Amino acid sequence: MAVRLAEKPPIEDDLHACTMCGYCVPVCPPYREIGFESAAPRGKVYFMREFDKRGLGVVDWLLRRKTLPDAEFSKAVFECTACGACENICMADIPFDGLWQDVKEWMVDSGLGMPEQAPVFERVRETHNIYGEPHERRGAWLPKEARNDPSPEVVYWVGCAASYRKQRIAESVVKILNAARVRYRILGTGEWCSGAPLANMGFGSYVKKELMPRNIEAVAETGAKILVTACSEDVRAFLKDYRRWGGNPPFSVLHITQYVERLVSDKRLVFTKPLPNLKAAFHDSCAQGRVTGMYDAPRNAMKFLKGLVPLEMFPSKSDAHCSGAGAGFPLVFPDQASSLGAKRLQAAMDVGAQAVVTTCPHAEMHFEDIAKRQNIPLQTLDIAEVLAQAL
Ligand code: SF4
Ligand code: SF4
Repeated sequence: MAVRLAEKPPIEDDLHACTMCGYCVPVCPPYREIGFESAAPRGKVYFMREFDKRGLGVVDWLLRRKTLPDAEFSKAVFECTACGACENICMADIPFDGLWQDVKEWMVDSGLGMPEQAPVFERVRETHNIYGEPHERRGAWLPKEARNDPSPEVVYWVGCAASYRKQRIAESVVKILNAARVRYRILGTGEWCSGAPLANMGFGSYVKKELMPRNIEAVAETGAKILVTACSEDVRAFLKDYRRWGGNPPFSVLHITQYVERLVSDKRLVFTKPLPNLKAAFHDSCAQGRVTGMYDAPRNAMKFLKGLVPLEMFPSKSDAHCSGAGAGFPLVFPDQASSLGAKRLQAAMDVGAQAVVTTCPHAEMHFEDIAKRQNIPLQTLDIAEVLAQAL
């Protein structure tokens, strides 16, 4: 069936800046799993450059050769976890994080998206969360200790994962904010999916038009000057994606660990309770690490805790390996996603960790699932939960 291609995003300058050096090839997680260069950034760039040139060469014309995006090319585009490693290493400074979002959107708008990811989009459209749970239950986790201040200094942005699947994270953030006597507001049904997972599955046009404006408005109208979240994907949405699309939120966006650093330094918060002795390796989530450059805050927060022995995994920070959980990758490539996650868990065990601590609920659920299926004796903990236990 002939494909009617949607308008290609304006990425020619970036494509032609590529020197084909190949630095981005070995750092790409799907490439490492799949082994074909079509999965690597350089392979995808090469294909799109050929598409740009099609029909221009005499030899191409004589051989009736044409390079047109099709289902096979689209599959290669979605062989991407949105990990940010290619942008991090690219010697031509190609802004790949946004470029892959745009190319995936081009594929979805051309009818070439991944069918396995389409239900996530439908669920967000119908229920405003990625799980298809009833919207009216978004705030059902709220403990009786939660306070909603009429004049908040902070909005706590909970996110889909902590609202519906990992409520312990949300309860932990409430405990931290209460301990520091922060005036905060939780939006409940006023909060919709931030759209970060959707944008990395090619549904960016919906996120830009529907989710971004209403989410920014919902926070802004509280008058709070700070949004705090414990979800790496939501940090990414408000700090990176919305700004790239011109959303310009009129408030600061902080991960809970950044806010904890501030509360401790302002002497509003003290961690007094020693934790059981636990060797914990920190996993840098791609969205919070490479994509938004937040490496220090979670490590600094872990230093406040007595009893916890923080360990560094190898590689870490900007070279950290991806868990495989991002961008809906496990829905389309479950074996490769599991293999990436298992390797990261092994890296934690290699440094003697008893637990992995991270800031991404999606990576946590992915790790937990792999550890259970493969009998890996490693706990996965969210940093907000660990911090709350020390109060
Ligand atoms: S963002 Fe990560 S997974 Fe996607 S192409 Fe770049 S290196 Fe590969
Ligand atoms: S690292 Fe950058 S310049 Fe080198 S091949 Fe990859 S995309 Fe091209």
